[in-house]
Amino acid sequence: MRGKLVVGNWKMNGGLAANATLLVALVAGFKPKPGLQMAVCVPFPYLAQARDVLAGSPVAWGAQDMSEFAAGAHTGDVAGGMIAEFGCRYAIVGHSERREQHGETDVIVAAKAKAALAAGLTPVVCVGETLAERDAGQWHTVVARQLDAVTGALGRDASLIVLAYEPCWAIGTGRTATPEQAQEVHAFLRGRLASAGATGVQVLYGGSVKAANAGALFAQQDVDGGLVGGASLDAVEFLAIANAC
Ligand code: PEP
Repeated sequence: MRGKLVVGNWKMNGGLAANATLLVALVAGFKPKPGLQMAVCVPFPYLAQARDVLAGSPVAWGAQDMSEFAAGAHTGDVAGGMIAEFGCRYAIVGHSERREQHGETDVIVAAKAKAALAAGLTPVVCVGETLAERDAGQWHTVVARQLDAVTGALGRDASLIVLAYEPCWAIGTGRTATPEQAQEVHAFLRGRLASAGATGVQVLYGGSVKAANAGALFAQQDVDGGLVGGASLDAVEFLAIANAC
């Protein structure tokens, strides 16, 4: 598969009026190129709005999380099948904010990735180390553990995921991994995917991506695009990031 992909993660931001302006601007401004895809992952209540504005456009949409369960007594959770009914292509799973704020373990993240595929969604699986882990020289161990949990659970289907490397120390901090740091981790992850029999997986970089740094990051051999938080809330900036691909 590969090719470039830029995914916006709105996080817990938005409102009907602001979303409409942003989504319409993306549809008007996104000039598709061969091998380039764009998507936005919006809060659950706005999935219908995203579908209504984006359907028929080259911009795909998705959710930022989903349950590992298909249905049942899980108050407050949202199943992959429900998300899929809104035309979503993607569901982010294992974002570091979910791991940290909601105690999501590698096992839960792997189960969510599996449930996403079962619902016909593409999981955007996030991995990444904390600053303490990087400073201790442990990034290999951490991202390998996080990724292996997912590839182990998915088996042959591991080739169907999108993987996002998001160092926690670069998310929302304004501090970006250098292109060389990103490439080093992406090459490592790609090797790990290959060992698990998963080839062709798009590996995105996430962490304070902006128009100003996107070109250098996306030029790296193993960086297939970006998972973009804050900058995806600004249509001009997000379109410029996509154009940097
Ligand atoms: C994210 O939320 O996945 C992210 C990378 O955020 P930011 O771009 O704001 O660092």
